[in-house]
Amino acid sequence: MRLHMHLRGARGIRAMNVEHVRAWLYGYRDRLTAVQGLLDELDNRIGDGDHGTNMLRGFRAACEHLGEATSPSEVLHKVSMGLLSTVGGASGPLYATAFLRMSQAWRGMENISIKDLANGLNAALAGIQQRGGANVGDKTMVDVWAPATECMSGDPTEHGVREASRAARQAALNTRQLVARRGRASYLGERSVGTCDPGSVSSAILFECLAITLVDGMEADPWTAQVL
Ligand code: ADP
Ligand code: MG
Repeated sequence: MRLHMHLRGARGIRAMNVEHVRAWLYGYRDRLTAVQGLLDELDNRIGDGDHGTNMLRGFRAACEHLGEATSPSEVLHKVSMGLLSTVGGASGPLYATAFLRMSQAWRGMENISIKDLANGLNAALAGIQQRGGANVGDKTMVDVWAPATECMSGDPTEHGVREASRAARQAALNTRQLVARRGRASYLGERSVGTCDPGSVSSAILFECLAITLVDGMEADPWTAQVL
């Protein structure tokens, strides 16, 4: 789907408007429908089996009222509030914080450049870390948000967006080898090794959906088939 071509230059996208941000989140909700079972299974192995169910419930509810939003910031604010009121698990408040911080970073902006996007993602990552206290290597969604955000900050171009999606996917797969130090999976200690972190996988899909929204012709990679 091509949206608002005037925001795309000869070498790809220049900015995201309210429609692009909505398309990102609707695309993510649709992907969650497809991977709910996978995320639940991962969480079943190292947690309580509800991550896919939590995410799908949250994003379905969050997406219901996005049509009323008139700016990128407002879209993300609605997502944040929707997640907070519907997701009881650890991931709900963490994703809600991420979207709230991004919404605050974009206040008053109609068009979000990739630089603005990178700034918003940095603010979101800081929020996730303040709220959850996790660092890179603790086998949480931070393992995906940190490298993906760094990619986009270091190279705020279409190429950086693609690389961020690739880095996110690789980081999610790499959590398989890690021992969980935060969240429910940490109760298992060494026994958490061998399973990818569910929140890292859902986060990597969020970054992939973002890239699909921004990059003409980009499609979903079948990487989630390697997760289990
Ligand atoms: P719950 O663990 O309450 O059942 P979910 O299953 O929905 O919630 O979410 C689990 C995911 O949340 C984990 O896979 C991990 O990525 C993420 N998570 C849990 N605790 C933290 C934390 N302290 N910081 C960052 N992410 C966390
Ligand atoms: Mg869970």
